[in-house]
Amino acid sequence: MLSLKTFTFSPIQENTYILYNDRRQCCIIDPGCYFQEEREELKTGIEKTGLTPVLLLNTHCHLDHVFGNKFVFETWGLVPHIHELEQPVLDRAGQAGERWQLPFDNYTGDVVYVKAGEEIKIGEELLQVRFTPGHSPGSVSFYHEAGSFIMGGDVLFNRSIGRTDLPGGDQPTLIESIHREFFTLPDDTKVWSGHGPVTTIGYEKMNNPFLTRY
Ligand SMILES: [Zn+2]
Ligand SMILES: [Zn+2]
Repeated sequence: MLSLKTFTFSPIQENTYILYNDRRQCCIIDPGCYFQEEREELKTGIEKTGLTPVLLLNTHCHLDHVFGNKFVFETWGLVPHIHELEQPVLDRAGQAGERWQLPFDNYTGDVVYVKAGEEIKIGEELLQVRFTPGHSPGSVSFYHEAGSFIMGGDVLFNRSIGRTDLPGGDQPTLIESIHREFFTLPDDTKVWSGHGPVTTIGYEKMNNPFLTRY
């Protein structure tokens, strides 16, 4: 079984998730800690729960999702796992920080590329990589079938979808990704998004104004 902890960080109010198994091994998804006190909060939260970080995943590499990559690398030695098409987005994140008046120390070291359909392990638990571009060219989502949830980044939100006006964004591609990779999942699948509250596939099929095909 995988348990979940959520933090909301930075002026952009990004959701940072910790997934952990029964052996207290944890995976950090999209560490968005921007301020020093947010980094402390993440570290204390992990330590207080007795967790050992073993994996760092990024759904995509917009600045709000990678603010804490360098801190996580320096604290626990974890290398970001991203889709290859996000490499240029990661490389540009530092400049994006300057432009958005949120300067930060971007991670520039090695990364590991994940591929569509790949199964990532946290101990015995599996996360399936789903390729969900449109908000960003190499966005991926992590589906945990046994726990009926998907970590969706900025693809699908409660009654909304990701913005597509940033470099590499494309709305038809995003909507296609949601129909192909999200709406084919069981209706009771929970969607944990990069911003805002949790939702479910069934709820969004019924209520999301951007997804009227259903
Ligand atoms: Zn984003
Ligand atoms: Zn975001």
